[in-house]
Amino acid sequence: MPKIKNILLPLSSLALAGCGQVPDQKPNIIYVFPDQFRNQAMEFWNSPEYAAHVLWQADPVQTPRLNAFADESVVLSRAVSNCPLSSPYRGIFLTGMLPERSGITLNCNAERPESSLRDDAVCISDVLNAQGYSCGYIGKLHADHPTPNDPANPGHYVSDRRPEWDAYTPAEKRHGYTYWYSYGTFDEHKNPHYWDTDGVRHDPKAWSVGHETDKAIEFLRNENGQRKKDAPFFLTIAYNPPHSPYESLDDCMEEDYNLYKEMGYKQLYVRPNADTTLWKAGAARYYFANVTGVDREFGRILDELERLGLSDNTIVVFTSDHGETMCSQGTDDPKNSIYTESFNVPFLIRYPEKIRPRVDTTLLSTVDIMPTLLSMAGLSEYIPESAEGRDLSPALMENGKECDLPDCALYIRNVNGERDADGLVRGFFPVARGIKTHTHTFEIAIKRDGTLKSVTIFDDINDPYQMHNIDYTREPALMEQLLGMLAAKLEESDDIWHKNGILNKLNF
Ligand code: CA
Repeated sequence: MPKIKNILLPLSSLALAGCGQVPDQKPNIIYVFPDQFRNQAMEFWNSPEYAAHVLWQADPVQTPRLNAFADESVVLSRAVSNCPLSSPYRGIFLTGMLPERSGITLNCNAERPESSLRDDAVCISDVLNAQGYSCGYIGKLHADHPTPNDPANPGHYVSDRRPEWDAYTPAEKRHGYTYWYSYGTFDEHKNPHYWDTDGVRHDPKAWSVGHETDKAIEFLRNENGQRKKDAPFFLTIAYNPPHSPYESLDDCMEEDYNLYKEMGYKQLYVRPNADTTLWKAGAARYYFANVTGVDREFGRILDELERLGLSDNTIVVFTSDHGETMCSQGTDDPKNSIYTESFNVPFLIRYPEKIRPRVDTTLLSTVDIMPTLLSMAGLSEYIPESAEGRDLSPALMENGKECDLPDCALYIRNVNGERDADGLVRGFFPVARGIKTHTHTFEIAIKRDGTLKSVTIFDDINDPYQMHNIDYTREPALMEQLLGMLAAKLEESDDIWHKNGILNKLNF
């Protein structure tokens, strides 16, 4: 395709210049986010031109398609998931609002009736739908409180698991997505199921990532009216792998597992903070197999875009809802912690001819994604007032104007509130808050009575594997600086820690 010089102008500039409606020039957007895919699990970080931008070694994974995609993308080395857990992430991404306002403060299940995507929230898909986009959602949603609404068995939950975690999302709760092939949450990777646009259930008996890619390719080809013919589209693809379980060939493709099956722990675990005596140490081979499988399927989407001539006018994002600790830091909880393996996520964004491929250190937060993507699509005037994050598109676009870059990103960890007489969880307890700056990771955790539980400070420059918690009593100036930045972030977010004065009540 010939390169036209003025294509570098943002679409908003074209509109301002009086060019009127240019619907055919609105870019398509494809947002791909596998679950639990850590930033360190991308092979290119080990090649010299990328390794120079980070202070750690990447996992011994094979990701040939992401390697090539990175060369065409802005690759953010320090993007984080503000609340690194499935449902809260999805709420933030979809609404541009932090958990207290998106409605999703905890992982959604039937015992947590108050944690659910707000019906009245304006989602990125609502905005794009209103601007003429065809919006499609494929894969794991995990943003609704499960209710007894099985379309094939009204009055019943979609399975007999208790508490129910999976959910069917009826049309009125799809927030502008008019093509639907999704489910709540379900972790049998070779026995997935989905409800389609009409609420019909499908059980394809196939590895979910390959099957969802087939559906994504069908959406792109649009042979059965999956989307409006002459309209731009927004396709969200939420693969579940490399999410656990990662225990057997039931969880991944054998061709991918064969790449790792002969590797011992010394080869598999390159991070010096990993404890391979943990029960889950054997999981790495299956985890990496899923990473390679996701890489291949993501590549099939890129190939189809190219074949259809859509690559140049499509913004493609590859990211994840959170990472995976994978035996690092002595924890067997893969997520929901501020450790870099959990908190730092991949974020690659390709927009040919509009952005210059490079590694960038912008501290992008989940909450910034909605305003940034809308702005990159030339729709900055339609960013809803409810959106809390920043439009960081000027930092990503090649000819972007100056913008204030974030000096830190907020970290949120909530746990269950009290249970009522029926055993249902009411509210949430805000057990920890923290920030990531360009140099440090900082977290404060409290006990149920509101007193101090722990302070964590890592020097991410001199201790990139976060093996030495700095004693805050010995570094008062650093502590004061980080506390000030955290307090400002909590105030800016009107977080419950700010509203309830939690930080001020702590004795350090
Ligand atoms: Ca997740």
